[in-house]
Amino acid sequence: MAKVLCVLYDDPTDGYPTSYARDDLPVIDRYPGGQTAPTPEAVDFTPGRLLGSVSGELGLRGFLEAAGHTLVVTSDKDGDGSVFDRELVDADVVISQPFWPAYLTAERIAAAGNLKLAITAGIGSDHVDLDAAIAHGVTVAEVTYCNSISVAEHVVMTTLALVRNYLPSHRVVLDGGWNIADCVARSYDLEGMQVGTVAAGRIGLAVLRRLAPFEVGLHYTDRHRLPRAVEEELGLTFHESAQDMVPHCDVVTVNAPLHPETEGLFGDKLIGTMKRGAYLVNTARALIVDRDAVDRALRSGQLAGYAGDVWFPQPAPADHPWRTMPHHGMTPHISGSSLSAQARYAAGTREILECWLAGRPVREEYLIVDGGALAGAGAHAYSVHG
Ligand code: NDP
Repeated sequence: MAKVLCVLYDDPTDGYPTSYARDDLPVIDRYPGGQTAPTPEAVDFTPGRLLGSVSGELGLRGFLEAAGHTLVVTSDKDGDGSVFDRELVDADVVISQPFWPAYLTAERIAAAGNLKLAITAGIGSDHVDLDAAIAHGVTVAEVTYCNSISVAEHVVMTTLALVRNYLPSHRVVLDGGWNIADCVARSYDLEGMQVGTVAAGRIGLAVLRRLAPFEVGLHYTDRHRLPRAVEEELGLTFHESAQDMVPHCDVVTVNAPLHPETEGLFGDKLIGTMKRGAYLVNTARALIVDRDAVDRALRSGQLAGYAGDVWFPQPAPADHPWRTMPHHGMTPHISGSSLSAQARYAAGTREILECWLAGRPVREEYLIVDGGALAGAGAHAYSVHG
């Protein structure tokens, strides 16, 4: 019987919800490109409920306990003597979401003698030391595509919010004011701007598709080029590298995984080659950009705005400079954890567990590391230290 250790974010401050803003979710059973949404044998939750917090338990308790497995759920993941560290010692499976990552460092993996499977209930497994997972034969799987469109919507929302100066204008209303000039002195139209994405995978391509109707110029860079038909349909300009692309762009959005090739990509040097007053939107991973370089660029005016929802570490400390830097549209890490996305990644987590517990292969597209090597989706989009 397996011990499953699940690290989830805390319940709402006023308690686990007893009612919801809406009664149902649209049914999405296929993603763009044809991949099916998760197909577990069953789920024990109602889609649209809060599943990602401690009391939501990703809807897993009934299924696991009925089969004789143990489920431990905690939000206490960091610091000496955390519940996570205590329970990890004999856990077979660890589950966490990138929004509240259980950092599976090399030391933790070495201390977890029974660990065989690390599931990311979401996308992005950089909170797991992949080199160590490979060395210890730990399988790493994530629910590929589950929240890619959720994030793409957030990128479009924050791009418009920055360019149109939405958040400061909303603040004027909350503060009882009406000074139009205060609102519009930094407000532009997106129309006609040049927008580029670093990576055109599931999220990056979805962002390009959603922005095309705004009559902007669209650019991308990626390790693999998109099919010519897609480039022509969307009028895309391909650039060999981020360095080649960013000087042409008014808005740059980052949609690549965090791995050795992308870590620290946006530092003073690259940001210095962007157009003065460009906007940078990063919902991928915080460590792809240099924290202090972003702060400096916003204060100098090199960047007109920065938005996203990814921080390091998570949760971000109260004195993190991105909370107080000017012209930002940051949120906590929420873009991929809408109630809509939660229903999909909870079902995907259940699907992965059903397969793994029954000794059946996990879907290739969910695998990041398996059998001591990068595998499946991980072999395509990630790299490890050489
Ligand atoms: P995909 O795997 O579909 O896309 C990732 C893309 O990044 C691939 O096209 C890959 O290229 C490309 N890529 C990898 N390395 C580089 C590089 N060095 N330069 C340029 N492109 C590169 O993943 P998703 O689009 O679904 O997600 C992307 C990332 O977004 C995730 O890894 C995660 O970190 C983040 N994310 C954030 C969420 C949030 O809530 N904020 C939620 C979900 C994801 P190729 O495969 O062609 O080599």
